[in-house]
Formats: sequence, structure tokens, C-alpha cells
Amino acid sequence: MDFSPQMFRNIPKVAYDHYKEGNLNYPMIIYVSLVHIVAVAGLFALPKCSKETLLWAFILWPISGLGITSGVHRLWAHRSYEAHFVVRLVLMLANSIANQGSIYHWSRDHRVHHKYSETHADPHNATRGFFFAHMGWLLIKKHPDVVKAGRDMDFSDLLEDPLVVFQKKLDPWFALYMCYVMPAQVASHFWGEDFWTAFLVAGGLRYCYVLHCTWLVNSAAHLYGDHPYDVLSYPAENPLVSWFAIGEGWHNWHHKYPFDYSASEFGISSQFNPSRLFIDMLACVGLVWNRKRGLSAWAMGKARRERDAANGIPLPKAPPRPWEVEAKKVE
Ligand SMILES: [Zn+2]
Ligand SMILES: [Zn+2]
Repeated sequence: MDFSPQMFRNIPKVAYDHYKEGNLNYPMIIYVSLVHIVAVAGLFALPKCSKETLLWAFILWPISGLGITSGVHRLWAHRSYEAHFVVRLVLMLANSIANQGSIYHWSRDHRVHHKYSETHADPHNATRGFFFAHMGWLLIKKHPDVVKAGRDMDFSDLLEDPLVVFQKKLDPWFALYMCYVMPAQVASHFWGEDFWTAFLVAGGLRYCYVLHCTWLVNSAAHLYGDHPYDVLSYPAENPLVSWFAIGEGWHNWHHKYPFDYSASEFGISSQFNPSRLFIDMLACVGLVWNRKRGLSAWAMGKARRERDAANGIPLPKAPPRPWEVEAKKVE
């Protein structure tokens, strides 16, 4: 793993260049700054927390996480399985606790990300470095190619789900309520926690933490890890990201077969994937069906891979990474 300083050294200069070009997204800069200020206040409120509130904040990590991974990502953005209305309702509510924009907008950006990975039309193009792919993309105005790609693609299927329409109509107020206020109301009502202590810890601190867990998929899992399924693509197999993002770090496989509900080749005993376990458990009781897999598509290429290996044909070379290009310039 190469954490070359070149990746971070240019951030102030790049930020200044964007400022000069009038390219900064001020509302988002203020919002993201406030999110982090509230999270820091949450750190200071930790010693005042009851055990119940700490547990509640901890549990809200996988709960809100599933609203992103099994919910907006695998169900709505990729349509990798189908689910009963009750499951979709629970996932929509969990997704609102995660407060990462509406299901409609998240899915739109994500489909564009898959179609145009690592180009200017990719909302969080990882060739622009770790910080841009992680959170920098939220702080500047979208590249015109991203806007055009979003306009040219069809997302009408998303609006056929009344739950998606409901959440979109109430955006952002419902998500802000579910993210910050609801956790505090639950804690103060059921175990008498101070409202603002729970607001800061189970709301603000947990929210900011889960945001970074999600962002790691776009940054770390696009830059660090193995590429067993597609050596030419940036997305990588990253176990650490899978841990933080409850099973979304098997990203080389995921970009190869985005329709695969598991977002990983192997089962949960060898690849950490609570998001898949959640979907499988619901399938056992008939609330989820039509789970798609990429295994047969991958197996079809096996004969060609073995023939190439037997004939001594090497795998294609991986594209140069941003820090390698930067390092060459410095030399
Ligand atoms: Zn990706
Ligand atoms: Zn995806």
C-alpha cells in the first residue's frame, strides 16, 4: 500500500485553484464543515453518555449502513434483487438515518459512477486522488461531464417505487430528522438520556463516522487492493473497507459484475459481508427474491484465462495510479 505524500500535498493548491475559478460549492462546504463540527462536539459528549446510548449509537452504524449497502446500493441503484414492500420500507427508513441524499439522487450518481468510472463523468473520479474521491467531490461544483451523463441516462424506474418518491419529496428534512433528531428522541424517551447528548453522539458522531465508512469505498477501495477480476480497472478487493462498509469492499468484483447482489465472489464465511447476510436471511423467509449472481459470467471466461496462462500471455498492465504519475513528475 503506497500512501505517497504526493496524493495529499496538492490539496491546498487545488482548493485555491477551484476558488479562483469560482468552482467551490459553498452550501456543501458549510454543510460538511457543520457535520464535522457536530461530530467533534459528539466526541466531547462521549464521557457523559449512558451505556445504553453508546450501544444505540453503535447499533445505528450497521442499521444506517444497511440502508446504504443492501438498500440504495444493491436494491435500488443496481436492482440486484427484489424485495417485499415491508423490506423496502425498512430499508428506506434505514437509508434516511444514513442521510446521504435521497435514494433517487444517490442511485443516479452511483449509476453514473459505474458507467463512467475514472473519467471526468465519474462524480468521484479516483484518478483525481484520494481526497477528491473520498469527499472533495462534494465540495466543488460537478464537472460538466457528470451533469451531462446524469441528464442523458434514464432513471425513471426509480420513480416507479412510491417509497423512493415519498423520500424524494421530503428530502432533505425527513432524512435530517431521522439522522439527528430521531436517535435523540428514542434515547431520551426509552432510557432517559439527555436529549442533546444523544443528539450529538447517536446522531452527529455516528452519522459522520458512517459517512467516512461509505466514502472509503470510493477512495480506498478504488485505490488500494488486489485486482483479480479486472486488472485494468481501479476498483480493488479491499478487506479493510469491507469491514468499515459492512461488505462493500470487494469492489473489483463489484465493478465487474454490478448486478451481483452479494457484491463479492465468495460467501460470507470467507468474505466479510453482513449486507449479503441480511439479504439472504430475508430470502429465507420469502421477503426477498430473484437474487442475481455474476458467478456464471465469471466462470465463462475461465477457459480463456487458462488458455492465455498456458500460452504465456501475460495479464494486461494496470493503469498508472495518480501518485505514480505525480512521483514521475517530481523525478
Ligand atoms: Zn466504485
Ligand atoms: Zn455499485
